[in-house]
Amino acid sequence: MMNILVDDSLKKLARKLRLLGFDTAVWSKSIDELASNERDIFLTKSRRFLEKALKMGIKSYLIKSDRWESQIRSVFQRLRVSFEDLRPFSRCTICNGSLEELAKDSITGEVPEYILFTAAQFHKCTLCGRIYWRGSHTVHLERLLEITKVSGDTAEKNTL
Ligand SMILES: [Zn+2]
Repeated sequence: MMNILVDDSLKKLARKLRLLGFDTAVWSKSIDELASNERDIFLTKSRRFLEKALKMGIKSYLIKSDRWESQIRSVFQRLRVSFEDLRPFSRCTICNGSLEELAKDSITGEVPEYILFTAAQFHKCTLCGRIYWRGSHTVHLERLLEITKVSGDTAEKNTL
């Protein structure tokens, strides 16, 4: 799976990509230092950043849309992501750490009790310790998956 870097204005997109399992970092340093990054692809909303990045030899794409739904579609289309590439519940949406599965009895006290009873699977971020469970992001995730499914046939060529 590819490593993605996004510019500071695409934080929301970064969270969605992480939710779908993509290793996604946000670039918050100066654009002139971008050459030091080691990621596969750079996504940006800025034409100026794009030009700089391309000059540095970094594989980059311009994101035109302001809406994350269209942004996700554009990215998936450009990177030729298919449904099978997605790894939901493998990345922390906040810090991009990888998630590990947790045994239910090891998390008593860390999540509300009713969730312990109703959720079947728990994951914990190996970096920041945040706990995820099916249900915490499931509705959101389903909508995301719906959006990505559509991307195959309704190609939005103008948005990127
Ligand atoms: Zn985390």
